[in-house]
Amino acid sequence: MKAVRLEAVGSITLREVAEPVPGPDDLLVRIEACGVCGTDRHLFHGEFPCRPPVTPGHEFSGIVEAMGHSVSGFSLGDRVTGDPNIACGRCRHCHAGRVNLCSNLNAIGIHRDGGFADYVVLPQKQAFILPADLKPTHGAFCEPLGCCLHGVDLAEIKPGSSVAILGGGVIGLLTVQLARLAGATTIILSTRQASRRALAEELGATATVDASAADVIDAISGPAGLVPGGVDVVLECAGVQETVEQSLRLARAGGTVVIVGVVPQGMKAAFEPFDLLFRELKVLGSFLNPYTHRRAAELIASGAIEIDRLISRQVPLEEAAAVIANPPAAGEVKVVVVPDRG
Ligand code: NAP
Ligand code: ZN
Repeated sequence: MKAVRLEAVGSITLREVAEPVPGPDDLLVRIEACGVCGTDRHLFHGEFPCRPPVTPGHEFSGIVEAMGHSVSGFSLGDRVTGDPNIACGRCRHCHAGRVNLCSNLNAIGIHRDGGFADYVVLPQKQAFILPADLKPTHGAFCEPLGCCLHGVDLAEIKPGSSVAILGGGVIGLLTVQLARLAGATTIILSTRQASRRALAEELGATATVDASAADVIDAISGPAGLVPGGVDVVLECAGVQETVEQSLRLARAGGTVVIVGVVPQGMKAAFEPFDLLFRELKVLGSFLNPYTHRRAAELIASGAIEIDRLISRQVPLEEAAAVIANPPAAGEVKVVVVPDRG
């Protein structure tokens, strides 16, 4: 079969490899779609630990083509989505129910071979069935949506909440939709690209702010801003110092800030401890998708999340390595790799 191989940091190529053999508890999944994520680019640049050679791709879905003898509850031909993050189940964090913090996390597409290939091996405990009539590309959004669900769960958005989301990439645009579904009545997205602001307003944002033109703090929480005094919840989805610093200032007294964006390791952000104390802010990190993949799959199967407008391009496996090795094009939200079986 064909697989995109990260041979070493800075070296990625499509080549012929042996088709993987599923173990007793595994499904062999023929990939229908696999999304390209910022993490794939970080792997390529050596900015995220992994063990090359490896096939990247952790946002995949496909069809069950074979299975090990201990598998139950799945049939050949099922469309499935895979939660790529395999927790060990036996470390302190797993025993505390914090599987995203597992000391021995073994992620498909990072530590073991992933979805930029014709086939992937998926342990049955990581697999969830999707409807047979679901658009194949939609299944690839379960993993990013699961990460956003964890952030929105931690944020405890309630009906009537006011929410600010910083960063209008796919994570921000999925989070806008989840905030709407959670009942937020004010949903403000701050991002620089006009096309993303327009899309956010179609997807449920009640207002948007051009982060490159306006003073975001004035525009949102200033006396003449959209929510004077600040919003109930801020979700930082850009992963840059500026938005992390903004996020604490945009929350109202007693408000909640959730950091979803991955700020490069070692980078610092400034905040005023007095402000944190005096306004009793709650600041939380949200990492990965603990126990949210099934709900993400349910949401996507239900059609409640707009996916098509988040897909900027579909490319065949032959183009995946070049997409990963290059920065995203302007205006691009999500590129999905769809193996061509012509
Ligand atoms: P992305 O496409 O890079 O989106 C982030 C967007 O933020 C940028 O495209 C940019 O859009 C916007 N931005 C940059 N600087 C900004 C600023 N100063 N003010 C406002 N917006 C700004 O990435 P993504 O896939 O949506 O992911 C977002 C972040 O979440 C990344 O850091 C990613 O690593 C992280 N992530 C975290 C988890 C988790 O488990 N916590 C899971 C997946 C991803 P404009 O050009 O429009 O400004
Ligand atoms: Zn563990």
